[in-house]
Amino acid sequence: MNFSDLASHPHRRLNPLTGEWVLVSPQRTQRPWQGQVESVPPEATLAYDPTCYLCPGNPRAQSKTNPRYTGTFVFDNDFAALKPDTPEAEFQEHGLLIARSEAGRCRVLCFSPRHDLTMARMSLPELRLVVDAWVREFEELGADPRIAAVQIFENRGAIMGSSNAHPHGQIWANETLPNELSKELDASRSHFKIHGTTLLHDYLQLEVQKQERVVCTNDHFVLLVPFWAVWPFETLLISRRSVSSLSELHDEERSALADILRQATTRYDNLFRTSFPYTMGFHQRPTDGGKYPEFHLHAHFYPPLLRSATVKKFMVGYEMLAMPQRDITAEVAAEYLRNVPPKHHLDSPL
Ligand SMILES: [Zn+2]
Ligand SMILES: [Zn+2]
Repeated sequence: MNFSDLASHPHRRLNPLTGEWVLVSPQRTQRPWQGQVESVPPEATLAYDPTCYLCPGNPRAQSKTNPRYTGTFVFDNDFAALKPDTPEAEFQEHGLLIARSEAGRCRVLCFSPRHDLTMARMSLPELRLVVDAWVREFEELGADPRIAAVQIFENRGAIMGSSNAHPHGQIWANETLPNELSKELDASRSHFKIHGTTLLHDYLQLEVQKQERVVCTNDHFVLLVPFWAVWPFETLLISRRSVSSLSELHDEERSALADILRQATTRYDNLFRTSFPYTMGFHQRPTDGGKYPEFHLHAHFYPPLLRSATVKKFMVGYEMLAMPQRDITAEVAAEYLRNVPPKHHLDSPL
């Protein structure tokens, strides 16, 4: 049986990065989405909000005040989940009650002084400043001998629990490898041992050849809906060159990263003509001083929307108890994202 025959029936697909399966039920959506859009009027946001704790010059918690920044602005989270001065301790009983202290740092990165901009609507030079700030944070936090992993991410939209509309991301750095990175690292290592190339290098060659899941590209990056996507419009952003962290990107690649991020977020916003919510984040090599030629830099976009600006996918029932499940296939999702206009709908009303 060839793939298209198999793919028209219920089937499962393997995520080689995590070793986990996703159930795909394409028969449940013969006509999943007819192109209708349920436009949500853009929130009336101001370039500066006097009540926003991220806007330049405004007060923050604990009587701190933001500088009148003009580019990006990074600071230690006032309510950090991780602290650098955490005392070392370990607890173990019966091999069942196990706990360890965890030191780290949580940073907040304001992408722009403008309260009303999102990545999709920032200029490329402005987005490049964000990329440069990520590189700096990765290098500075990673240089701390107690930091083994630096997780850069953005939660966008109230639906994802983002409490403030001001464009910003977070950087959490900690002592031990978080679960997701740990799984991916194991799989990357096994692949590299056998093939001598990174898992995502080989996967990217396959996808570029097939094209059916590719959304958009530039000279240095490819955005695609991964074969094993769980969220309806989940995408994976892969660097064409096998590098293990943002800090290995050269000048032109950093600008290309800004470009592909703008392409990605613009396509998302245009899909349902809304400010598309998502969790986005980079996976990079550990920063424990080791060499990780097997690890390949990439970013995941996990958006929760299913059919419109207001209809969200729920991960409940079978998903919580058994395994993730999706109806719309990765191939169909990629086609939708590929076919939306590449120019932002707020810049060129349709
Ligand atoms: Zn603001
Ligand atoms: Zn990853």
